[in-house]
Amino acid sequence: MTAIKPIDRGSVHRICSGQVILDLGTAVKELVENSLDAGATNIEVRLKEYGSELIEVADNGCGIRPDNYQALTLKYHTSKLRCFTDLQELSTFGFRGEALSSLCALADVSVVTRTTDGAAGVRLTYDHAGKLMGTAATARAPGTTVAVRELFKHLPVRFKEFRRNVKREYAKLLAVLQAYALIATSVRIICTNHVGRAARTTVVSTQGSPTLRENIVTVFGSRVADGLEPLIVEGPSGATISGYVSKATAGSSKSAGDRLFFFLNGRPIDLPKGSRVVTDTYRSLSSAATAHCRPVAILDLQLPRHSYDINVTPDKRKTFLHHEDELLNALQKALQELWEPSRSTFAINNVV
Ligand code: ADP
Ligand code: MG
Repeated sequence: MTAIKPIDRGSVHRICSGQVILDLGTAVKELVENSLDAGATNIEVRLKEYGSELIEVADNGCGIRPDNYQALTLKYHTSKLRCFTDLQELSTFGFRGEALSSLCALADVSVVTRTTDGAAGVRLTYDHAGKLMGTAATARAPGTTVAVRELFKHLPVRFKEFRRNVKREYAKLLAVLQAYALIATSVRIICTNHVGRAARTTVVSTQGSPTLRENIVTVFGSRVADGLEPLIVEGPSGATISGYVSKATAGSSKSAGDRLFFFLNGRPIDLPKGSRVVTDTYRSLSSAATAHCRPVAILDLQLPRHSYDINVTPDKRKTFLHHEDELLNALQKALQELWEPSRSTFAINNVV
């Protein structure tokens, strides 16, 4: 055995950062969440070459104060959480203070920001350890723009894979953005992509509407929205699920891909068991007309704060929910009543 020694700090930083920023979708998700946490009502995501050359997220949020320029990109530095017990009361998307520091380790990061009461904007550049390298005055309306160039350039394997599969990564990113565009009411979110010499195309856009239903119309169009109906499910211990699902006679074509979105108190999450409940129930009750369709579901789980843990993975998409099986059983029963009233009295016990 050779001597046991600590790994140098730079290497640790790079190793851990690859676990926070998993892919293009996570990178954009982190930046959009920061804009929402900053109280933005207008968020623009600008991509170049599907995000492989440049990801830029610009907002009209509170901006960054000069005394925070240095700490902005340092690992575990956050303005949102001070100690572990704060997690109980947390209302922001972020709290781990890892996203910007990880992005610095994996790409070239620059920031332009101006606070609401700031006289002018400032451009900040950072090195790969998250150290502030330069500041320069620049014109900007209040808010913040974070630019991430050449994502994963410092993780050779992932960089290659990302470039090889850039369109697949981009498709995943659009699904992530759609989730935020749907749930963020009263926030205008727009995403554009610029490829080669072609004109910039708008790929996701909402208008800052105050309701989920209007956001569904702007994200998916009125034909999809017309095929949905509202659903409210009472679950165990004060939990509820509310949102929209396909009508019994409607659905989404297979080519449109999955349109199953779950949120936990307004935070987009992965809930594979929930997706399975929706698709299996739909499939088991589908008529000839919907046999080739997939269900659409946009559902927000409203749970008491003490009944879940979102701090399972750095991207916070995985969750531990108390009473998950009971909650999903209640969802399954409600979907059965909606989609096939005559079968609603059958006992259901296949949610695992
Ligand atoms: P976290 O969101 O977990 O705090 P981040 O690394 O994402 O960690 O961000 C670090 C800090 O930088 C945030 O706590 C916030 O104070 C500040 N910040 C990041 N993005 C923005 C933004 N768009 N507008 C204002 N402040 C921001
Ligand atoms: Mg954050």
